Amino acid sequence: MSSTDKQTALANQLQIDVPKEKVRAHLQVLGVFFHLLDTVAATSNPENVEATVDEFFQRSTYRLQVWLEQIINIDGEEDPETKPLQDHELPPLDVALALHSYMLSPLRYFEDSELRSPQLKRMQEYPLANILNAIDPASQAYDELKSLAAAQFWQSTTQLKFDAIDSMSNDATRVIECPSCGTAASVPWAGAHGFASPDFEYVCAQCGLVVTHDLLRAGKFLKALARAKNDAGFCLPNTAILVRGEVDVSRCAAIVAAVWECLQDDQGALPSLKDLAAAAASAGSSTMTFIANKLSTADALRPESLPILLRAFEHSYPFTQDVVVALHHQRPFINKVFNEGWSAPQTDVPSDADLDDAYALYADFLDRVIHIQRREPGWQDDLIWHTHQLLLQTYRAFIVGYLHVYLDHLPKGEDANAFRPHYDNVANPKAVAVWVETTDTPALETKKLFVPTDPLSCQDGVAAQAFLTNEFVAPIFANN
Ligand SMILES: [Zn+2]
Repeated sequence: MSSTDKQTALANQLQIDVPKEKVRAHLQVLGVFFHLLDTVAATSNPENVEATVDEFFQRSTYRLQVWLEQIINIDGEEDPETKPLQDHELPPLDVALALHSYMLSPLRYFEDSELRSPQLKRMQEYPLANILNAIDPASQAYDELKSLAAAQFWQSTTQLKFDAIDSMSNDATRVIECPSCGTAASVPWAGAHGFASPDFEYVCAQCGLVVTHDLLRAGKFLKALARAKNDAGFCLPNTAILVRGEVDVSRCAAIVAAVWECLQDDQGALPSLKDLAAAAASAGSSTMTFIANKLSTADALRPESLPILLRAFEHSYPFTQDVVVALHHQRPFINKVFNEGWSAPQTDVPSDADLDDAYALYADFLDRVIHIQRREPGWQDDLIWHTHQLLLQTYRAFIVGYLHVYLDHLPKGEDANAFRPHYDNVANPKAVAVWVETTDTPALETKKLFVPTDPLSCQDGVAAQAFLTNEFVAPIFANN
């Protein structure tokens, strides 16, 4: 697709603040990611490529967690966002890949960075230059010398291989904490009951709990709920960003109280994970389904808001976004951009004119958000959109200034239907039109969906109101 004169004029008028150098740097990094994933596929048994890539994405997400917890230093930093990434903090390439997919869910990343993980504030912008400065152009992987400080620090701190491919073949286990007693254990990645399998299972040597993915998720939920109860600024995931991108924790305590009240026992305490698991087993469901069913009976909670509330507990990593899912959805884009020749090394594609075209298409894409004439982004405008999102605060300021809403970006296939009843019920004359896009329900494509532009017009601070008010579903959702 190429742009029209009208779109070009619009792009000039908008002055989208994504420098071309950033787009080009992003493209080079995408080329490195293409090479990395190509190597992963090449080292796999041909019948098993998809399973191998999935395990690689799970490992990458775990290693992102390890990197944030053990490598990124925030001690003594009053303003961590002002401290650039140091040489020894350079992420392994698979961690760089996972961080990239994570940042491409800008609202969730922003909420996590503001409320839950101060380490993320060190990455207010994706570290394109740090990564590229350490790349050997010939191999499209890290230059050993240029990444030496990081490799040595990573290996001595984490006991894991720095190189993602080496790690895949040498690091057979990962550490987990028992979701009941907290005892740490090393569990294998591979095998029928290994961590990478949906049937993961291991017995805690300390308390005897048979730990599964379901129990890790339920444990993460109980822990988040307990922490949010004690720390009003922590909030449950997906509850603290308003439609215009402000962080607002004022309603979080009310949401937590409503959830707590629904789950508490006679003494007002949360049931233990073991008791919840036993109750779920006798009801014949998973623990997370049991929790969801229980919450759906709570008067104060809108049923259609529950999927949003529970979204972060569909996986056990400490992120609001499911980074493994996001990685799977970025993979075709990485392939597409490479196959178009835009991220292949040593080519003169894209030209400046190609990029001008992409900016014009992106301007048109954004303009259509306002004028309810939505279309899916093509890969060129998507590239500019993604690059924009990697400049986290720049994107937020620009997009809120222009659209009056903080436009989110979610992996294709995420269940946008969960949000539909809510949007359908909102009729606000001051509305800004937005859309929910799904890949599998074409009827939604032309539907006009509304989010109020005045998110603070409703009462705050009352449990029932927290889920009744329109602003709870603050993020608006566009998939890609
Ligand atoms: Zn245990």
